[in-house]
Amino acid sequence: MIEPLVIAIDGPAGAGKSTVAQKLAARLGLNYVDSGATYRAAALKVLEAGVSPEDESAVVEVIAGAEIRFTTDGDRCAVWLDGRDVTQDIRTPEVTLAAAQVSRLPAVRKKLIALQRSLVQGRGVVMEGRDIGSVVFPEAPLKIFLKAEVQERAHRRRKQDQEEGRASTLEQTAYDIGRRDQLDAERKISPLIPAPDAVEIDSTRLTADQVVEQILKLAQERRLV
Ligand code: C5P
Repeated sequence: MIEPLVIAIDGPAGAGKSTVAQKLAARLGLNYVDSGATYRAAALKVLEAGVSPEDESAVVEVIAGAEIRFTTDGDRCAVWLDGRDVTQDIRTPEVTLAAAQVSRLPAVRKKLIALQRSLVQGRGVVMEGRDIGSVVFPEAPLKIFLKAEVQERAHRRRKQDQEEGRASTLEQTAYDIGRRDQLDAERKISPLIPAPDAVEIDSTRLTADQVVEQILKLAQERRLV
């Protein structure tokens, strides 16, 4: 049996990971997995339980009792919390910040990394996140670290917010992205740093399709596809 292929795409918020990973999955006939959605579902549970995302022991207890599931079919995916589809509910600014806070806790990461690892099925996955190449799948044969200048990332995130009907200002978006970058880079476990064998791509002046072409070329050179 041929082993499923794992392509890891990591990088900071707004670097274009989701768009690129979805397009790449569609081109290669692989499943797309947004690992951030699992942290967001955990954060939603914490907020709905009325617990502060900074109260470590309470968060750990709430998450231990949470049933988080993830379903993926081609370039579409959904996340479920205690049997409810929360794919849309996890996109609020409150959940975004709480996700960065709860993802710092080892017990939370342990549970969600096990879930992420269980999602490699069929022909394989394109999984995007912060630590996919460094921690979740250190053996992945192709790891991309996608970055972009912070102003460009804020522009993209704001455009996405507008398209999805969420009000935001550029200033607030840039501030939120900067704060999340800091939380993600400074945490002790699984900080946002490129895996030593990751290929860095700066998407500031590239379209998503151009990034996808670069990754496809790498996959072909390595005879993965
Ligand atoms: O990618 P997204 O913005 O949805 O991720 C939400 C938060 O989840 C991030 O700010 C980060 O703290 C956390 N995360 C993580 N590891 C991943 C994916 C996301 O810690 N692999």
